[in-house]
Amino acid sequence: MDYRCDHGSKGSSRQASDWRSATVAFAYTTLLIVASSVRMVQAADPDPLQDFCVADMSSHAPNVNGFPCKDRAKVTSKDFLYTGMRQAGNASSSVTNAVGQIVDVYLYPALNTLGISHVRLDFDIGGVLPPHTHPFATETLFVVKGTVYTGFISFDNILYAETLQEGDVYIFPKGSLHFQLNVGNGPAVTFNSLNSQNPGFLTAVNQLLVTKIPEKVLETSIGINAKTLKLVQDSVPLYFGGSR
Ligand code: MN
Repeated sequence: MDYRCDHGSKGSSRQASDWRSATVAFAYTTLLIVASSVRMVQAADPDPLQDFCVADMSSHAPNVNGFPCKDRAKVTSKDFLYTGMRQAGNASSSVTNAVGQIVDVYLYPALNTLGISHVRLDFDIGGVLPPHTHPFATETLFVVKGTVYTGFISFDNILYAETLQEGDVYIFPKGSLHFQLNVGNGPAVTFNSLNSQNPGFLTAVNQLLVTKIPEKVLETSIGINAKTLKLVQDSVPLYFGGSR
């Protein structure tokens, strides 16, 4: 049977109706794509309008996004050099036996407007960098030394994790919860890169248990009584500041 016969005498008006529906659907789809593109653009560091803009951290000029530029005539090659990651962090000084040096625009003003920052992580044996997020950046981790078990939780709550050897790289999508554990027999070192000059650093356990969220909210959310909650809160290490 010829399918065109199904249109019958009403074929032309139905075709017009179909065409209107298709046009509306196309318009909606276009709108959604544009809307999601705008959201993605807003979520990333903006593109710079010049090759560099070494931050003038002493300036009191108002800034909207990033810092004002240092006078270009006073910029030298030394402005682009950062040597602070030569030294190992003192992992044993941390209650989790791991420390990180976040080399963002505040430590390294040359990063200003360039959408990148770095981290050096140092771990003692068994050291842990607790589950945390960077709201403004995707991160890659490169194992310089040792053996590191690391992973992230996807937005549909799946754990993706691997044991990395020296030279291996792992990636943590922007905003995802991730962690590191030194599973080797000696110290470990990683060098990480993040695609924001100011990626942000939020530790999940501290956010949940060492802030001032009302106890009733936590008791109900976690499903424990007040006594158990207090026990858990008192045992959480204050690894990155905070107070009880
Ligand atoms: Mn991280």
